Amino acid sequence: MKLAIFGGTFDPIHMGHLLVAEAAREQFQLDRILFLPTGLPPHKKTPVASSSQRLIMVRKALRGNPAFVCSDWEIRQRRTVYTFETIAHFKTLYPKAALFFILGSDALRDVPTWRQGTGLLRQCRFLVVDRKEAPWSTIARPLRRHVLRVQAPLCEVASHTIRARAGTGHSIRYQVPDAVGAYIRAGHFYQRPHH
Ligand code: ATP
Repeated sequence: MKLAIFGGTFDPIHMGHLLVAEAAREQFQLDRILFLPTGLPPHKKTPVASSSQRLIMVRKALRGNPAFVCSDWEIRQRRTVYTFETIAHFKTLYPKAALFFILGSDALRDVPTWRQGTGLLRQCRFLVVDRKEAPWSTIARPLRRHVLRVQAPLCEVASHTIRARAGTGHSIRYQVPDAVGAYIRAGHFYQRPHH
């Protein structure tokens, strides 16, 4: 089985995430993609939506696609979980699977600052998605050599703009799945100043 981990804050999950996951699934014939919302992201600010709200949104977004599965494993740890620990955990859980890890080129650029640094790139296959803010040509050559590049249309939907739009009453339709949009509208959890 080919299994990919797709970690993120998912605050909220959006069409960009789903689009790249589907592109990766097809290109690398992945059997399953595990969406793994982070509890306390090491390099990011505390999420605005709670862990359970982010889990609910991911589950709503993935409904109906048996290849896309949500895992609450990182959130259940209730501490900062480093990527090397996540990879080790899922290797143990699925010892027979070929394991992949999906991340954006912005995140790839930061990998040298993560625990275990570029050594991480040897622990499983990394599938990298282009982000506008981190063009491929600006990624250091040693990093590029160790990863596979996902061919997906560049879609610059981002969680922070969705939070800002939702918070100010603007439309987020077609940026998030309908069920996620309805949940955000009903919960009002992005309606705080300065997000
Ligand atoms: P924020 O806007 O709050 O920084 P985000 O939209 O980048 O959030 P994350 O949950 O941090 O969302 O993203 C998880 C992973 O998905 C990261 O590796 C990120 O690079 C990637 N990603 C996010 N948005 C897109 C997009 N539109 N296209 C491709 N990859 C994306």
